[in-house]
Amino acid sequence: KFITLEGVEGVGKSTNLQFITQWLNDRKIPFVQTREPGGTPLAEQLRALLLTRREEVVDPMAELLMVFAARAQHLAQVIVPALQRGDWVVCDRFTDATYAYQGGGRQLDRTRIEQLEQAVQGDLRPDKVLLLDLDPETGLRRAGRKGVADRFESEHLAFFHRVRSAYHARAQAFPGRYAIVDASQPLEQVQRALGQELAHLL
Ligand code: C5P
Repeated sequence: KFITLEGVEGVGKSTNLQFITQWLNDRKIPFVQTREPGGTPLAEQLRALLLTRREEVVDPMAELLMVFAARAQHLAQVIVPALQRGDWVVCDRFTDATYAYQGGGRQLDRTRIEQLEQAVQGDLRPDKVLLLDLDPETGLRRAGRKGVADRFESEHLAFFHRVRSAYHARAQAFPGRYAIVDASQPLEQVQRALGQELAHLL
């Protein structure tokens, strides 16, 4: 099974990722935990490039291609081999983040993303996208300055609202693949919901 975790900054992805890996360990399910952009040395270098402030404005298409370049490497080196072994893959962000950040946030044409998705992934899609959903005001407050700093410091709240809307649009388009979890709930309730979603996959 291929599971991805998504959400805007400050939704509690890291904490809930730990819960998911503990849940899998408790059931002795073999899995690989990884993240995007990143997951291999080359892809992590691309991630560092993406998240570093620089003098020039990053062209959205250049950003999109870097994200997919990292993904191609990650798929070839990590994700596909793991799935072929029969391991589960738990990935912190994947292509839905591209639809959300590069599509929603950076307002790139969705059909461009679809074309690259097809070229890089073929038919491979996550079995379940766990979307931790939270309004960006609360998320950025929780994340402190880190959230905005990650995104080149130049982004405003409107950017993160577009990111969230794009996630919602994806969930509407692929209701079976998505599980939306209200991340404003107390952590125990968030994790109970995540546990239920994981149990459905068994
Ligand atoms: O997952 P994490 O929050 O660590 O990601 C770091 C940053 O990378 C995010 O804050 C997000 O702004 C950015 N990102 C992006 N496009 C993606 C994935 C992540 O801009 N496709």
